Amino acid sequence: MAEIRVKNLRKDFGEFVAVQDSSFTVADGEFLALLGPSGCGKTTTLRMIAGLELPTSGQIFLDGEDVSFNRASARDIAFVFQLFALYPHMNVRKNIGFPLLSQGVPKAEIKARVEETAKLLQIGHILDKSVSGLAGGDRQRVALGRAIVRRPKCFLMDEPLGTLDAEFREVMVHELRELHNRIHATTVYVTHDQHEAMAMADKIAVMNHGIIEQFGTPQEIYNRPASMYVADFIGSPPMNFLKFTAGVQKGAGSVSFDGVEIALPEVHQDLAPGELALGVRPEHIRFNDSSALRGSVYGAEYLGTNQIVAVETGKGLLKARVSADRTFRIGETVGLELNSEKLSLFECASGRAVQSSLYTEARHG
Ligand code: ATP
Repeated sequence: MAEIRVKNLRKDFGEFVAVQDSSFTVADGEFLALLGPSGCGKTTTLRMIAGLELPTSGQIFLDGEDVSFNRASARDIAFVFQLFALYPHMNVRKNIGFPLLSQGVPKAEIKARVEETAKLLQIGHILDKSVSGLAGGDRQRVALGRAIVRRPKCFLMDEPLGTLDAEFREVMVHELRELHNRIHATTVYVTHDQHEAMAMADKIAVMNHGIIEQFGTPQEIYNRPASMYVADFIGSPPMNFLKFTAGVQKGAGSVSFDGVEIALPEVHQDLAPGELALGVRPEHIRFNDSSALRGSVYGAEYLGTNQIVAVETGKGLLKARVSADRTFRIGETVGLELNSEKLSLFECASGRAVQSSLYTEARHG
């Protein structure tokens, strides 16, 4: 398996910049998810790594070798578009072995490698069945087998679960991660679904308009978002923002909402007066009737073990994730308490986190 390193990668389509200044490393055996909304440049990045698209500028290294302008066939990478694409007239064995047959691998070796792959995917018992009669899950496993059997340096996957219904998708998310734990293949996985990325990836690159906004572990991205964009894209419901205008001095500052002093996250340089946003995740808001930070309940969404309660405050609507035990009335006045250890601070004009040099540090992995 291999390390993938991308350096200052850029792709222009005419005047349009689809990917810009992308730099990151996927360590040998690591699983990276490229995550972002439609059109943010995920597929273009993946296609450049695969060699299906040439970069306008920048470099791609595979195990230290500059492959930026090598043809796709010379890169030893398996590209999995959509796991359903099988040859319907062949049985499972032939489908999995096909890439080896076209490479001219001897028959005995094909047999051994197909059987080894089938064992890995736990589909040894269906090797001689026709693919047309297979259930969805087994079809996905066969398609994966066809990618694995080649023992490529790395796997590139473009929304492979995109066409599946929600329940089956969840099963496959689990299976793909299990498979990764077994074979440790360096993987780059494109998705617009934050749950898939969080559940499977070792590292996530959150993309926005061709730019990587943050590169980090799922925990870093969730707990220390580098920008308002990331804070809003990740989390369901997303992070709440309480906007205010102030200057903040280096070190520990505070802000007053409804007369309640809230300690701000520490900043490492003075911030000139301007609009700032305090970010708080829904699970870091508590109801405390004696708190002076007040609001009225706008709505509650019952989720079984907990509930999301929307509260209208003088600073806008805040969503809190709290225990489902208490019943709230619409319009009821409540007091809110923010967990001051879990807050983020952003500069509204740039959207960047300001509690440290987080934004610049976090963009390049
Ligand atoms: P999606 O999930 O919708 O595919 P994506 O994040 O993978 O989104 P890309 O497919 O990388 O996005 O596309 C990024 C942008 O580049 C889009 O605005 C797209 O229209 C544009 N684009 C992609 N390929 C081409 C092309 N060959 N010519 C012109 N524009 C292109």
